Amino acid sequence: MKHKSADIVDIGKNRDGNMTEGSKSHYEVIVVGAGVAGIYQIKRLVDLGIDATVLDSAADLGGTWYWNRYPGCRFDSESYTYGYSFSRDLLDEWHWKERFSGQPENLRYLNHVADKFNLRRHMQFNCKLEAMHFDEARDLWRVKVGDGRELTCRFVVLAVGLLSVPTMPRLEGIDSFKGRSFHTYYWPHEPVDMAGKKVAVIGTGATGIQLIGEIADKVGELTVFQRRPNWSAPLNNSPISDEEMADIRARYDEIFAACARTPGGFLHEPDRRGFYDVSREERLRLWDRLYDEPGFGIWLANFREIFMNEAANAELSEYIAERICRRVRDLRVAEKLIPRDHGFGVQRLPLETDYFEAYNRDNVHLVDIGETPLLRVTEKGLRTTERDYEFDIIVYATGFDAITGAYDRIDIRGLGGETLAAKWKDAPSTFLGMLVHGFPNLLMPTGPQSASASTNFPRGIENGVNWCMGLLQYIWDRGYTRAEATREAEQRWTAHVVKMYEIMLMRKAKSWFTGYNSNVAGHEEGTVRYFLYNGGTPKFVGIINDVAANGYEGIVFGSNARPEPEALRTRISA
Ligand code: NAP
Repeated sequence: MKHKSADIVDIGKNRDGNMTEGSKSHYEVIVVGAGVAGIYQIKRLVDLGIDATVLDSAADLGGTWYWNRYPGCRFDSESYTYGYSFSRDLLDEWHWKERFSGQPENLRYLNHVADKFNLRRHMQFNCKLEAMHFDEARDLWRVKVGDGRELTCRFVVLAVGLLSVPTMPRLEGIDSFKGRSFHTYYWPHEPVDMAGKKVAVIGTGATGIQLIGEIADKVGELTVFQRRPNWSAPLNNSPISDEEMADIRARYDEIFAACARTPGGFLHEPDRRGFYDVSREERLRLWDRLYDEPGFGIWLANFREIFMNEAANAELSEYIAERICRRVRDLRVAEKLIPRDHGFGVQRLPLETDYFEAYNRDNVHLVDIGETPLLRVTEKGLRTTERDYEFDIIVYATGFDAITGAYDRIDIRGLGGETLAAKWKDAPSTFLGMLVHGFPNLLMPTGPQSASASTNFPRGIENGVNWCMGLLQYIWDRGYTRAEATREAEQRWTAHVVKMYEIMLMRKAKSWFTGYNSNVAGHEEGTVRYFLYNGGTPKFVGIINDVAANGYEGIVFGSNARPEPEALRTRISA
């Protein structure tokens, strides 16, 4: 078959001396992004012998775990539910050191996977995808890379991440600051000496909350600029001993089966009793237990009504507020840390370690910029409507142009030259979150409106990549050169995604779950974007499997490609 990887040419060497692809100009598949999704995607392609490569703008693999190096960065998934499930060998040899593993370990893990399966040779770094235009006559994508190269391929798989475009406040003077400043996503690779320093953190989302808890006792003075507080609950992390790891290894099948059963792809199963079918005492007993247990239990093992019923959600919110008050000595500060504009868990719940206790320290100060907004960055620090502050370091934990941000920044043109950014200007529309009408041969295993953003990410990734691979195999087996979702299928799916939001309280939340970002034009308050599939993993997997079983209903296939001119063929090395 023409698309097999025997054609690989122009072999070079990457930084660790492994063989890598260099100046080849045509591939059957180009995968964009060498993060958790891209690594698994290329593994599956390589296993089939497909001529494929990965492009990533970073200097190395790891995606989110390559970039986010801020202190305290870790995931909230139980580590042993976060790792890939595809290789027994890998499961048996990897020892997760902590129940919720930190960034350095996570990056080591991804490097280990890439090295174990010899995947680096299929990856090209410092290669930013700038444009991809569909050549309708040849059923090919023409791809422009930041280094000036133009490549072609039959299929593009975008594994560009859901939170990979960091956003800065729209404040004047950011460049005038004479100290050090960075967005958490671009935290320097070398250690940042913060001892004795005056540090500002802007933002109290999941990132800010992790960072603040971690650095409070390591800096001179820490001033947190909080616009709106976020609900947060304890992570309750702990090490994993050899014995525990052996037990986990023996239970991996059971663990992954449990993740596949739950809406969120985690081990935490919702409490299926009715909120009002049990007494208030019973509810309090459950919450007392869940609050003190590790992980997302307090969010995901709770009553289902907390996501849909205002009164049920308000009762839980009051309970969590009371737990916060028990942990923060100054009740005026505690009051500022308790959200009053949204209920518990309707935005993505950050889990924390010593976050609330940080505010009991004399060197930690909370500035409510809801009351006294930031005016500008100065040479020496920050100016609010109330006063000037001086800092050595300013950290922007101000979030991301989530879900569609990475897509919007690539010049993607489908049939008739339509751009994806224009099509998605007001909101994305997709078929199953993985295909887009008008953009043939473009696959998004973790795209907007797929289940992966609302689930334990790697579990969603494996589902998405496996489904995309099934589709590709179907196409290759039949000699098709084009696959495109129909307009009707896309409209049906998008309407279903919107409907799933209607029953959720989160539809009203100012959060990336609804596409809110005050720093991105058009994403300010009031424009709800239906970004996530809220039906849960089992339902999503059922739907996508049915589509496959019905001959990929909703997708039209073709084989219109004219024979490729010699220039487009994969060149065979002498
Ligand atoms: P985020 O949740 O969007 O939070 C951004 C924070 O910055 C908010 O507090 C926001 O305030 C504030 N902010 C934004 N622009 C501002 C401005 N111009 N002036 C003042 N404050 C501003 O972003 P994030 O914390 O980076 O988290 C994003 C997502 O990444 C998380 O929800 C999670 O999915 C993922 N994440 C996961 C982990 C983990 O696995 N443990 C850790 C970190 C991040 P407002 O609320 O007022 O907008």
